[in-house]
Amino acid sequence: TVVTRFAPSPTGFLHIGGGRTALFNWLYAKRHGGKMLLRIEDTDRERSTDAAIEAILDGLKWLGLDWDGDVVYQFARAARHREVAETLLAQGRAYYCYATQQELEEMRELARKEGRPSRYDGRWRDRDPSEAPKDVKPVIRLKAPTEGETVVEDEVQGRVVWQNKDLDDLVLLRSDGTPTYMLAVVVDDHDMGVTHVIRGDDHLTNAARQTQIYQAMGWDVPKMAHIPLIHGSDGAKLSKRHGALGVEAYRALGYLPVALRNYLVRLGWSHGDQEIFSTQEMIDAFDLKNIGRSPARFDFAKLENINGHYMRQSKDEDLVNAIEAILPEIGAERGLGPTFSPELREKLTAAMPGLKERAKTLVELLDSAYYLYAQRPLKLEEKAATLLGEGQPRLAGITDKLRGLNEWNAQSVEAVVREHAEAIGAKLGQVAQPLRAALTGRATSPGLFDVMAVLGRDETLLRLQDQLK
Ligand code: GLU
Repeated sequence: TVVTRFAPSPTGFLHIGGGRTALFNWLYAKRHGGKMLLRIEDTDRERSTDAAIEAILDGLKWLGLDWDGDVVYQFARAARHREVAETLLAQGRAYYCYATQQELEEMRELARKEGRPSRYDGRWRDRDPSEAPKDVKPVIRLKAPTEGETVVEDEVQGRVVWQNKDLDDLVLLRSDGTPTYMLAVVVDDHDMGVTHVIRGDDHLTNAARQTQIYQAMGWDVPKMAHIPLIHGSDGAKLSKRHGALGVEAYRALGYLPVALRNYLVRLGWSHGDQEIFSTQEMIDAFDLKNIGRSPARFDFAKLENINGHYMRQSKDEDLVNAIEAILPEIGAERGLGPTFSPELREKLTAAMPGLKERAKTLVELLDSAYYLYAQRPLKLEEKAATLLGEGQPRLAGITDKLRGLNEWNAQSVEAVVREHAEAIGAKLGQVAQPLRAALTGRATSPGLFDVMAVLGRDETLLRLQDQLK
């Protein structure tokens, strides 16, 4: 059975590339009725933080990517990693190396002078340990093959070949007894029964070195799929400016997880021209052979379109709930608390059908509902103030007509406004525009009569009173 894994280093939040890697592993496992495991690669004690671990777990949960079994913490497995290094040592497939820092620096210096990549020269490879200096604590190095080739048959990159003479004897265990990343990954993937390693192609060279460790242990090498990294829309490596944000940032920007997931699946993988996938469709269609070989480009506009699509399909209440979930992040700057009052919730839900037609994100949705939660007296935008200033005389008397309405709904208020315009010989727009400005503080808004219906009679009249002098 298929076993994949997502193996983030908890040195920062779950960034967008990590989210995609997790998604691909998750889809591949689901596609084949297998499992996706989660391993936190916290061996770098200086840079790993609990906050990052939490952010990664939260990010995965938000994206709806669940993993099988318990989270594996790599650092906790250090004793097992050491045991494997010692096994290799006992089998003569690894050796103690006593080269000092100074010697290693000299090797690097020589490489710089000769203009080639630095490599350890193997000086302790066949040397008798009895010659070992007493004051140097050794590292354990892999006795890697010096001739021939190391080959990775990659599911995405194809056959990738390294000349063994170019790969030096890598360190398995540091002098303080801690395992290197390279050793830990191999031992963990083996012990966890991982059959498919799907990760970014920045790990391709590691794949060669890891293959050598598998071979030294006589273990099966898992299938590998190295995915091209995500680039910005201009083709340059993805940076913050391009959208290299943590997954939680997309949440606060107002994207729905289902939309981000749908966007991510198309980032480097394709299934004909299809852009919109339900979860089941993604699972059914996902394969490794349709992952492209060139970097995918991150495109905010496309993400927004997909998000708009999913917002339009969402139930009004679900959208209100989704906005409320990010209110702690986006509410304060809009004068809102961390939750909606029951009244505002009700108004928002009523206004949602009109609002969601246009907005691309939940944040835009909330902003377009501004008129619902704006505090009286409204501060008018410049354009709105001008419209109201010019049109004010045309609104004389309209308040009383509205007050006298029996029933308050979009149709009844529309009828009043139309009659009023006719009575004073104005076009509908000449009345509607200043009215909108007075009621919403803005020059544009969702349909005016819907706005008035949702605001209700009392609030509408109070706002008019505020603005009409
Ligand atoms: N921990 C590595 C990273 O965050 C991934 C290692 C792997 O997938 O083998 O880049």
